[in-house]
Amino acid sequence: MLIDFHAHVHDDEDGKYTRELVREARRIGIDYLVIHEPVSHSRDSLEVVQRCNDLTFRTYEREPEYFIPFVYTHPNLGQAALDEVKRGFDRGARGIKLEVASIITDKCLEPIIEEAITRDVPMVQHTWHKVTGNLRWETDGVHCAEIGRRYPELKLVMAHISGDNRWGIRAVRDVPSVYTDCSGSIADYGHIEECVRFLGADRLIWGTDVRGADFLYTLAKVRDSKLSDEDKAKVLGLNAARLLKLI
Ligand SMILES: [Zn+2]
Repeated sequence: MLIDFHAHVHDDEDGKYTRELVREARRIGIDYLVIHEPVSHSRDSLEVVQRCNDLTFRTYEREPEYFIPFVYTHPNLGQAALDEVKRGFDRGARGIKLEVASIITDKCLEPIIEEAITRDVPMVQHTWHKVTGNLRWETDGVHCAEIGRRYPELKLVMAHISGDNRWGIRAVRDVPSVYTDCSGSIADYGHIEECVRFLGADRLIWGTDVRGADFLYTLAKVRDSKLSDEDKAKVLGLNAARLLKLI
């Protein structure tokens, strides 16, 4: 099974990118695309969040058997943020996506985390570690580790192995409940193997970050790595399938 756990279609009114991406993903043999449409670098109004989610669910409805939608929110918006998450689940969401509106350790995250735990769904947090300093509300790997320790029952996915692979792997290494996804264009020498060596093959999930990165380029990082066939199968689909309750 091949599941892209981190994709953005960024479709237009006509559905052009849905058609293009689904055709390409099917050609490659991808079984499902997990999609969300966040606005980076933003902690804007509810209206912006709803526009993102409307785009996600409009795209989802074009290929409901193929897309697995996640609902996006800005936790700093309080009750409205939680209401938007619930609205997303009413429309078919299977998980929650968070970007850079709030750091995951902020108090305002608590109701969102509790909702994810109650529904037993994954929560994907954009995570980065920049030597030049993160954005004001950008989550770092150490924040994910802290939340994983505080809420071991939460299915937390630290996106992009935090951008800085070595930093991110070490940040969550001793927090067994935290998963990570290797989506994005970064491909440091040996980082997939290193991630599995330290975290285990059950905690790494393949994703692409299309349309920001390419399907085949990001697939090759895992498919052509030195992992065993058994570990590749986990990373490329089985771990995601388990989190999403597809198996
Ligand atoms: Zn992304």
